Amino acid sequence: MTFLRQTAQRIFDTHGPSLRDVWVILPTRRAVSVFLDELAALSDRPFLAPHALAVDDFITQAAGVQLIDSVSLLFDLYDVFREIDPLVEFEQFIGWASVLLADFDRIDQYLISPNELFSYLTAAKTLERWQVDMPSTAKPITETPGTARYFKLFENLQTAYHALHERLNEQGLAYRGMAYRLLAQNVESLIRDNLIYERVYFVGFNALSRAEEHIIRVLVDAQKAELIWDADQYYMDDRRQEAGEFLRRYKENGWFFSKQNHADLAQQANNLLGSEKNIRVVGVPNASMQTKVAGKIYSEWQQAGHTGPGTNSGRSPKTAIVLADETLLVPVLYALDENVTDLNVTMGLSLRSSLMFTLVDTLFEMQRTVHEFRTRDGRDLKIPKFHHRHVVKLLNHPFLKQYERIRGLMWPGEVSPTGEVLSPEPLFQWIAKEIVKNQRVYLTEQEIRELGQDDPLMQVLFTRWPNEEPMKAIRTFYDLIDLLRDVYRTSQDAIEIEYLYLFFTLLKQLEATLERQGSTGDGARNGRHAKAQADVTVRSFRQFLYELIRQTSIPFTSEGKSQLQIMGMLETRALDFDRVIILSVNEGILPQSRKLNSLIPFDIASELFLPTYREQEAVMAYHFYRLLQRASDVVLLYTTSTDAYGSSKGEPSRFIRQLEHELVPRSNGLVRISHPTVRFGRSTDTVVADLTQLRVQKTERIREDLITLLTTKGLYPSYLNQFVSCSMRFYFSRIVNISEEEDIEEKMGAAEFGSWLHKVMERLDLDYRMKSIPIDETIIKNLLEEEFASSMKGRVIESGMNLLLYDLAQKLMLDFQRQQNALPGLTVIGTEQTLETHLTVSVEGRAPIRVRIAGKIDRIEQFGDQIRIVDYKTGKVDLSDKTPTGLTDKLLNDGKEDKMRQLWLYRYLALKNISDYGGLPRDRAKKDIFQAEGMPVEAGFYSFRDVNGGFKTNPVRFGDNDSPAQYIADSEDLLQQLIQRLLDLDEPFKKTDQIEVCQFCDYKGICGR
Ligand code: SF4
Repeated sequence: MTFLRQTAQRIFDTHGPSLRDVWVILPTRRAVSVFLDELAALSDRPFLAPHALAVDDFITQAAGVQLIDSVSLLFDLYDVFREIDPLVEFEQFIGWASVLLADFDRIDQYLISPNELFSYLTAAKTLERWQVDMPSTAKPITETPGTARYFKLFENLQTAYHALHERLNEQGLAYRGMAYRLLAQNVESLIRDNLIYERVYFVGFNALSRAEEHIIRVLVDAQKAELIWDADQYYMDDRRQEAGEFLRRYKENGWFFSKQNHADLAQQANNLLGSEKNIRVVGVPNASMQTKVAGKIYSEWQQAGHTGPGTNSGRSPKTAIVLADETLLVPVLYALDENVTDLNVTMGLSLRSSLMFTLVDTLFEMQRTVHEFRTRDGRDLKIPKFHHRHVVKLLNHPFLKQYERIRGLMWPGEVSPTGEVLSPEPLFQWIAKEIVKNQRVYLTEQEIRELGQDDPLMQVLFTRWPNEEPMKAIRTFYDLIDLLRDVYRTSQDAIEIEYLYLFFTLLKQLEATLERQGSTGDGARNGRHAKAQADVTVRSFRQFLYELIRQTSIPFTSEGKSQLQIMGMLETRALDFDRVIILSVNEGILPQSRKLNSLIPFDIASELFLPTYREQEAVMAYHFYRLLQRASDVVLLYTTSTDAYGSSKGEPSRFIRQLEHELVPRSNGLVRISHPTVRFGRSTDTVVADLTQLRVQKTERIREDLITLLTTKGLYPSYLNQFVSCSMRFYFSRIVNISEEEDIEEKMGAAEFGSWLHKVMERLDLDYRMKSIPIDETIIKNLLEEEFASSMKGRVIESGMNLLLYDLAQKLMLDFQRQQNALPGLTVIGTEQTLETHLTVSVEGRAPIRVRIAGKIDRIEQFGDQIRIVDYKTGKVDLSDKTPTGLTDKLLNDGKEDKMRQLWLYRYLALKNISDYGGLPRDRAKKDIFQAEGMPVEAGFYSFRDVNGGFKTNPVRFGDNDSPAQYIADSEDLLQQLIQRLLDLDEPFKKTDQIEVCQFCDYKGICGR
């Protein structure tokens, strides 16, 4: 029988159907609702229910006060502080205000004398200031405005506490702890001597605050009240069990227990050791996977129906999914089977988990960005501009995507200067692409609005908020809510609509409070408040808003009697379930790690018997064991990865260890514990199996596509390298055309650095070297700057990594050109030129094809009587100066020999062109030919990493006869083989065996490597 049913029975038996003057106080509102249901079930005839209340409601009601809302409380406290110290700044204040209010709450609930506590605190801080504990050699604290403010804060706490109480008292308001203190101080007149409270039951409590203790003791002494405990022998009798710490203390004190209590204690339940339990402990890799396992287990239980150990026949077993980490509520709701409709949620859903909050947060983040750089003359400049990351993040937000869709926002498309037709596409998608394409790291308000075609939403989102105008931010949010109305209407997501309502209410409250601050009162008071409003900047407004958002949640407090209850740990108080699934049973989460956010140092807190983390842990242990008392099926889920809950390091909670080593061995086999491993179904295995075998068979269609590619665009060394190193990669990149996702980097990457230097080299060759104009330092520096500006739009050279790379580029270019100038007999013949030829290849089952073989050459130069085909490399180049053994095999099959293959093809292209045209064509029409007949040809690299290393080559020779004709013939033979393999229908595209090739491959995620 559940605890609340037993309690209802007992109260009903004691008082009969006349419960009108009985008060039943329970820990939570849910417990109240369950209790009333249990009571109603005891009689067929109607009867007057007792006054059943959650303890917080009872206290405020009996104390005759109203709870103040959190926004007003914070502003009242701020006013109080400004009266004491006009120099207190809002921005600082908001940093510690909520911690201080939590401390006020605690000291009131524990009836700590404020004078005693605060004089302790002031004395402790004075000692800290004097540094009496420090050795005389230690460096003294230097008094700065910061330290002075810090010490001042502690000096003012006591005055602030009293002033706040006075201010709230005048208005009939109180915060929670204050209401407890008020009632404790007046319990005799307010309850004991008040005739409406005939009999008061306090049901299901464990750790009482000192105010609660006092209230209850007065009433028990006056024989007006009784406590009904829910305790188990297991933790009551074993002094080492922290779960029983408070109840044992009360039992030993003896002053709480009525006659009935003693009777209860004598026959105290022994549910933990004396009833059958099946406990499963499951570790899963991450937090959200727990929700999937929970959903699956619940479905299994549902399918199994009413059976199972401990479940009473004829009654559906009650199940609770308990979230030690309450942020998992939404994932749990999504993880439940679609047919689970009979459920209640009893917990808050934090506003922080909403999509609305992510939008607000991105907006604040975006507003903070400024374009910061140092000018050449050494000045630091900050220009307010939006950073592309935030802009793109915002444009990708689900609400904005939805808005774009509903409004049908499109970029109209255009015909590019090269004649390419660019078709229309969704506007926000196009803007994001444009930003990447043009490498726009920072954007001004104007630029982004223009891209957004002046859509009203773009106007609202991309308006800067000056730091001193928080009202502008509020107005933006109102406009945003207005514009997103259609989005909400279409989505009909009840939770998000509720979030929107909460957010709107918060804004209204904040706006009203800010306005009140600016307009109320007169004279000095008015002046002070106006100053207070001016103090609120966008930054502090954000802190304030976030603090309120943190405290705000959608309260799910349904009163239904569903089979499934989803709740946080604290909501389980006094409730019992047949089946329980607890999530995040990780050390650091259950119980919480040892941190208590407080201005009161630990030693002072323990000196005054304020609760510390030790008491908090004992409280949590009680909730945990109590929940297990009457449950028969228990599943404890925890995460095994270190990053899921940073502090827990993937450790199961100590409670799990205690069950394994203490409860189970003592239960005589009644409590069974198992550690099943979770498998995520066969489908995952299949996918993995498939990926390891991944192959793509060539179809006729694919072969036709390949032929089109080879005969039109042609075969470049890079394609061939890709095919030889991994044909699957070739397939992804050339057939499926999956390209790597583009991104903008503020810092230039290696590829951009390389292409920038390539451009500078090209211009130096074209504009100077090929025209025999001498190159000096100024020319190089100017070209570097010009090319940077044209190819790195939006990036700044003046600071950070870019500046370092800029200096490096300058040094490399100067060294390189110096070295080149010193080489007598070096002439540049062509730059950035494509060499091409055609090769007829026979293909099985169809007519031969004419393959274009091409290569874009960085530079063609003549050195002495030798023609050099040059490629620039940003990275290091290590080449052997001998022809490797097994050359043919290496060229055909070795994925790591990409450089050798490139040089082989370059030399082939050069020799073939000389053979066909008598020289090297310098234009597409092949009219301008550089005569090179009979000249030796070599292909090689200039490495930017080693400019002094000069021309690096690896002579690819097929045999002793290295005549151009023989080289061409040998090369064409190899090319034929490679192309035929590429088109061979019997050779599928498959993953490489050379794992090292995969290291920098973009398709790793797709192919499963
Ligand atoms: S990851 Fe490796 S196997 Fe997969 S496509 Fe890339 S190179 Fe080929």
